[in-house]
Amino acid sequence: MFDAHVHMGYFPRWDKVEPYYYSPRRIFGALTRAGVDEFIVSSTNAIWDVEGAAMHAEAREMKRLAGQRAHIFFWVSMRYLARDPDLSHLPEGLYEGFKLHGGESPWLQEPELLSRVLSLAKERSFPVQIHTGMNDRGISNTIGEYLPYCRRFPELHVDLAHGKPHEEVPALLAELPNVYIDTAFVPHHIVENWLDAGADERRIIFGSDLPAPQRFSKTGLSAYVRREAAHFSSQNILSHNAGRFLQRTPDGYWAKFKETSRLSGYQI
Ligand SMILES: [Zn+2]
Repeated sequence: MFDAHVHMGYFPRWDKVEPYYYSPRRIFGALTRAGVDEFIVSSTNAIWDVEGAAMHAEAREMKRLAGQRAHIFFWVSMRYLARDPDLSHLPEGLYEGFKLHGGESPWLQEPELLSRVLSLAKERSFPVQIHTGMNDRGISNTIGEYLPYCRRFPELHVDLAHGKPHEEVPALLAELPNVYIDTAFVPHHIVENWLDAGADERRIIFGSDLPAPQRFSKTGLSAYVRREAAHFSSQNILSHNAGRFLQRTPDGYWAKFKETSRLSGYQI
């Protein structure tokens, strides 16, 4: 199983006044207990870590624990970008993509900055995960608002996380072969509606948004992932599609997967 939308770092939790720290070990442990083989993870510490030093240390710790099972996306904030305008100070080989969140940084109000990050992603063949939907500050980021950017960068693989508004997903996937949608916080009957409407199943990727579910209720992290995954029977959604989103070639994908499996003791 591949969970394409996971976080580590500080996050609000239902029973805490202050944000709670979700360490790489805690997140990796929960994913492993849930039966997740590989995952895409980004750090919410982008909110305060404007120099990136804490995020790099955290990313290295996650790689030490999880090796090739972890695909770490660097969460780019505008404050970080102001210090590293061409994103050239990121450690070599540590990150495999970028995460953007319009609630944390107002990307849609700064089209030039957003275009710059997307062209840097394209240069590096980095896929990009972009949050859609409402956020804490009541700012809405919609599929329609990101659509012109997805059109302008047809080689760039973009995951419009949460796929908001849901009813626009089938037409979006039909128009743009470079766009993916993750299922984080998407009710499973909505995914079924997309498929019934002819949406390309190969561009829907399973995501849990761990540890976000603990923000609202006392739910176990691994139990949540297992429960969400149980709604899906498609191995494309649960596993294979994320490899394509990461731009692996079929050969490269399987070679890497076999190596990962060997290292972690899985039989395939
Ligand atoms: Zn998220």
